[in-house]
Amino acid sequence: MTKHYDVVIAGGGVIGASCAYQLSKRKDLKVALIDAKRPGNASRASAGGLWAIGESVGLGCGVIFFRMMSANRKREAQGSAVLVDSSTPHILPQSFFDFALQSNELYPRLHRELVGMHGMDFKFEETGLKFVIYDEEDRLYAEHIVGCIPHLADQVRWLDQAALRASEPTITHEAKGALEFLCDHQVNPFRLTDAYTEGARQNGVDVYFNTNVTGVLHQGNRVSGVTTDVAGLFHCSTLINAAGAWAAELSLQATGIEIPVKPVKGQILLTERMPKLLNGCLTTSDCYMAQKDNGEILIGSTTEDKGFDVSTTYPEINGLVQGAVRCIPELANVNLKRCWAGLRPGSPDELPILGPMDGVEGYLNACGHFRTGILTSAITGVLLDKLVNDEALPLDITPFLARRFAAVPEKKAKQALPA
Ligand SMILES: Cc1cc2nc3c(=O)[nH]c(=O)nc-3n(C[C@H](O)[C@H](O)[C@H](O)COP(=O)(O)OP(=O)(O)OC[C@H]3O[C@@H](n4cnc5c(N)ncnc54)[C@H](O)[C@@H]3O)c2cc1C
Repeated sequence: MTKHYDVVIAGGGVIGASCAYQLSKRKDLKVALIDAKRPGNASRASAGGLWAIGESVGLGCGVIFFRMMSANRKREAQGSAVLVDSSTPHILPQSFFDFALQSNELYPRLHRELVGMHGMDFKFEETGLKFVIYDEEDRLYAEHIVGCIPHLADQVRWLDQAALRASEPTITHEAKGALEFLCDHQVNPFRLTDAYTEGARQNGVDVYFNTNVTGVLHQGNRVSGVTTDVAGLFHCSTLINAAGAWAAELSLQATGIEIPVKPVKGQILLTERMPKLLNGCLTTSDCYMAQKDNGEILIGSTTEDKGFDVSTTYPEINGLVQGAVRCIPELANVNLKRCWAGLRPGSPDELPILGPMDGVEGYLNACGHFRTGILTSAITGVLLDKLVNDEALPLDITPFLARRFAAVPEKKAKQALPA
């Protein structure tokens, strides 16, 4: 049962699906999208925030991530000098801002396209994102952020207490104000992944669900296909690694190099449907909240170094609930519908890993999107389509190439399979 494709995409989360969708617009390419549906798929765990500025300046999930890193480093310092000051925001490099903002700009058109041409509405909503200020520490944090992004001044707005309460009437009186990011919006992440996949399928991509890529075929230094557990052999000219938190394993099979992608666990919870409680997405130093178009509120999310564990645990969920009720006291009376955990594909510098690997033909990375893969899926699909077709890129991907990890451990690949 051998199949022949121009492109095989391993991993059908939001990143693989976006690549499949963009490639599917080329009617001359035969594309297969293969997904194992592993527990912990990040795209189906996500909050759906398109927080291009917020995440780039370390808010949203970033603030929780950074506080965890700070706590770890303080512990490592064992009472000596504190290495990281958690009151200072963690700003990502300009290359990431460019990547995130370009992706963000694609959403209005992408939404119209997927609704209009494929009947798939992923519920793009222009909500903005507000960083809620409770105390002096939060204010200093917010002022530092504004000082770091003078070029984005027109996308940032200060709200005093009265203005915040006017725009978010259910917010606690404890909140003194907010910093709002005007271009940071939201989508429904499940629907976004399904929309890309269905758009790709309608355009002729073959989708293989519940199928594991188990090995990689080679011809000399070229990747020439993959083996799977239930669908046989796939020959291809290009293999795209979109395997999320499992990308290191696939890169080792394909290239002999294990790219440094690690699972970063995130727990998140969902309330029952509510009348409109939030007008925009909110982020505090404890949690973030996003009310979806159907009235449910997502409250996220933890950042944990627990390998591939996807259990949900009381202290962590309780911490998120406490943070949410502090911000929106009415939430104390709301039922929780469910909670779950997903595995973010983390990289050491929090930047994605995109494009080719030195010395290997026919292989491209599309992984390591960590805490912003929903937001950055749009530009990733565009970039990977252009890389496959050897066309000029809308963005310099040098900062995202795997070769930046000079000390990537070169493990011996498993026995290369004959083509
Ligand atoms: C709690 C939480 C909240 C988040 N909130 C946001 C947010 O608000 N905004 C945002 O932009 N991002 C957010 N993220 C991050 C975002 O969800 C991820 O960056 C993104 O989903 C990564 O997509 P992916 O396709 O790379 O990985 P995944 O969605 O994990 O998909 C990878 C897929 O590859 C498959 N796979 C792996 N190995 C193989 C193999 N060998 N063969 C076949 N299939 C394979 C898996 O089954 C999986 O389905 C959040 C993440 C979490 C966990």
